[in-house]
Amino acid sequence: MAGTVEAIYRLQSIDAEIDEKRESLSSVEAELANNEDVLVASEAVRASEETVRELRSRLRSLELDVEGVSSKIAANESALYGGEVTNPKELAGMEQELDYLRRRRTAVEDDMLVLMGEVEAQEEKLQAAQGLLSRTERRWRTAQSELVKDAEELRSRLATLEAERKETARGVSEGNLAVYESLRRQKGGQAVALLDDGVCQGCRVAVPTSLVQRVRRGSELVHCGSCQRVLYSR
Ligand SMILES: [Zn+2]
Repeated sequence: MAGTVEAIYRLQSIDAEIDEKRESLSSVEAELANNEDVLVASEAVRASEETVRELRSRLRSLELDVEGVSSKIAANESALYGGEVTNPKELAGMEQELDYLRRRRTAVEDDMLVLMGEVEAQEEKLQAAQGLLSRTERRWRTAQSELVKDAEELRSRLATLEAERKETARGVSEGNLAVYESLRRQKGGQAVALLDDGVCQGCRVAVPTSLVQRVRRGSELVHCGSCQRVLYSR
């Protein structure tokens, strides 16, 4: 079967490229599945929105407080200055109450000012988080379309290689194919070694001259006595 060893050698180089392309494809697919940066950025936006919402709701409740106290103050003032109450003791009590209400309003207004500052700071943080998210998403979309293109090219190359492999394997007997497959597994993908200047390139050991002759004919599988690989001479 002339050309057998050559066919096996050819098979080996196809298989090596298939392995390499499959590995690239799975790493491209893994990258495509990984949009962690986008997830992290959108989680940051969500958390920041939640904080702003909480602060705004606290601010709203302080506003209601001030409104309530203010209308009490207005009611007390109109009663106090309306001239309806004349009893000095009652008047003093009303003034005291008014004093308390005014102090309370000032205190709540101070709290509001502090809270407004916090709201402003948190809104800035939210804006920054939104900016980061949209940049991350844009970057991801660009990377994604490149990755999709890479994956398509790899799949198409793999289809070609698999067809070539099938065609090449047709020229090799089942027995020799089995020898090749098993050696390939044992020898880290290199079942066939080139014989160069009488030296096996798989293990760098010189091959006896009698074997070299048989290898050159290329019609049978000749194994290197040292590493057991099939020897191939161009
Ligand atoms: Zn060898």
